[in-house]
Amino acid sequence: MGSGAPRGQGQVIRLPRGASLSDFADRIDANPGSLVQEMFNLGDMVTATQSCSDETLLLLGEHLGFDVQIVSPEDEDRELLKRFDIDLDAEIDEERLVARPPVVTVMGHVDHGKTKLLDAIRSANVVAGEAGGITQHIGAYQVHVEHDGNDRAITFIDTPGHEAFTAMRARGAQATDIVVLVVAADDGVMPQTIEALNHAQAAEVPIVVAVNKIDKPDANPDKVRQQLTEYGLVAEEYGGDTMFVNISAKSRINIDGLLEAVLLTADASLDLRAPADGAPQGIAIEGHLDRGRGPVATVLVQKGTLNVGDAIVAGGAYGRVRAMLDEHHKPVASAGPARPVLVLGLTAVPGAGDTFLVADDDRTARQIAEQRQARRRAAQMANSRGRATLETLMEQIKEGEKTSLTLILKGDVSGSVEALEDALVKIEVSDEVQLKIIHRGVGAITESDIMLASASDAVVIGFNVRTEGKSRELAEREGVEIRYYTVIYQAIEEIEAALKGMLKPEFEEVELGTAEVREVFKSSRFGSIAGSLVRSGLIRRNGKARLIRDGAVVADNLTVVGLRRFTDDATEVREGFECGINLGNYNDINVGDVIETFEMREKPRS
Ligand code: GDP
Repeated sequence: MGSGAPRGQGQVIRLPRGASLSDFADRIDANPGSLVQEMFNLGDMVTATQSCSDETLLLLGEHLGFDVQIVSPEDEDRELLKRFDIDLDAEIDEERLVARPPVVTVMGHVDHGKTKLLDAIRSANVVAGEAGGITQHIGAYQVHVEHDGNDRAITFIDTPGHEAFTAMRARGAQATDIVVLVVAADDGVMPQTIEALNHAQAAEVPIVVAVNKIDKPDANPDKVRQQLTEYGLVAEEYGGDTMFVNISAKSRINIDGLLEAVLLTADASLDLRAPADGAPQGIAIEGHLDRGRGPVATVLVQKGTLNVGDAIVAGGAYGRVRAMLDEHHKPVASAGPARPVLVLGLTAVPGAGDTFLVADDDRTARQIAEQRQARRRAAQMANSRGRATLETLMEQIKEGEKTSLTLILKGDVSGSVEALEDALVKIEVSDEVQLKIIHRGVGAITESDIMLASASDAVVIGFNVRTEGKSRELAEREGVEIRYYTVIYQAIEEIEAALKGMLKPEFEEVELGTAEVREVFKSSRFGSIAGSLVRSGLIRRNGKARLIRDGAVVADNLTVVGLRRFTDDATEVREGFECGINLGNYNDINVGDVIETFEMREKPRS
């Protein structure tokens, strides 16, 4: 071998996802260059600092006799936090646990009344003093109900639909305790009802069914009950354990009954307790960039109490909590378990589903955030790069270029960006077409987004956002396409269509040959005839042609209407031979012009 890399004897090497050969070399006390050489011997060209795919790391490990274990982002984060003396899984003493409100997500088929229901619950609960005050959308809100003589709170995630729910879960964050499944009584169980139900069941979250629109004359709430039994949701009155509540979100009928059912379900099937004291932890529900206030994020406290002045880290964002606002935009000084608050003072916008925690001091918060950012970048690079092996390279060359659609997603709130990304990556077209999302973010489309798009041939998707500053001009200059959307489904549909469009036969131009015009004859019958010498390839009758003068195309879309060798008609004339070419109605031909002929061929699929 002679490359000098040490050989292991099955020692375990733990490497973070996206580690580089330098990182690997570090762990086994080797020279990074020797690992580059080893990888080259294995047929893979990797630089020392480039972040590697899982496959590469495992392959190299096996080759060198090390048992490489790739550490998942979650484990890695735990390890990172442990270095800062933060243990997310620390046992909590029973006596510290206190009851906390349930957190509810509303899901269901489109138009079945999710938004209306969230509005109804929110406004049903606006206390007298705040009657005039508008409840602000901060991504979640809390309502209070009287239950068994006690004042009980319920927290609602204010983004209906299962996209946000799934995106959060995909990141390992579970914010929801109970799902309210809205089914319109006049429409019954629909595809997204089932989807929502599947998501809730997969997350093992209990469901309360809100049978909505019972004010409608054609409402059939019993049919909904019957339909859902097929999916394992059996109503209590039929002997099951799922609560079904007939409501009308629009006419505000029985909203109390629904809230009651949520509490009964929570009490019956969940142990909702959390420590109210101590260092807070939780989850970011959404975030956006506010013109005046900078990055703002709605967080849901899950354990402990968050206070103004705390040094907070949320995903890769950090900062000191400058102020906290509730859903009425009233300042709050502290927030306990299940309390959603809008946090001001972060340095960046966290993503929906990012966990947050509080560090001892600003410096620690910053260090954690920075290490997370670095890790994310490395992981993203590893994902986007794939394996550039000699083998795959050759395959790609052999099979023709791979078709891919590269996107940059920008949206108004992190929830929508994540939901969109989540839905887009699920689009199934075919292996031939690849969708790559190379960047996503919250806020206007900036010049740096455009530059990135230009560099990577990407299309920019703006969801409820527009360009800022000079980025529109820049996009025009760079030829970057920007598409704006306000409805997620529309974006998904169009991108799906675009992906499918790529599968339609594509034609490419193939040059057949060129001929130089030596003489021009005028014929009363045919117009101009170019006496030419075929310089390259061949000229074919009925072939497409263009006329080039001094290197510039002067006429395109022409056809070789007539082709003659001396006095005989010819179908083809090859390089080195003279011929007469007639371009139909096109007569502006000069000596010295070049006639280029080409044909359109269907591009072979890779
Ligand atoms: P979402 O797509 O599930 O969020 O549905 P929306 O809340 O936007 O409601 C869809 C439509 O149904 C709107 O036109 C609502 O006004 C209407 N709607 C919602 N709830 C009720 C209800 O209880 N009764 C009636 N009649 N219409 C309702």
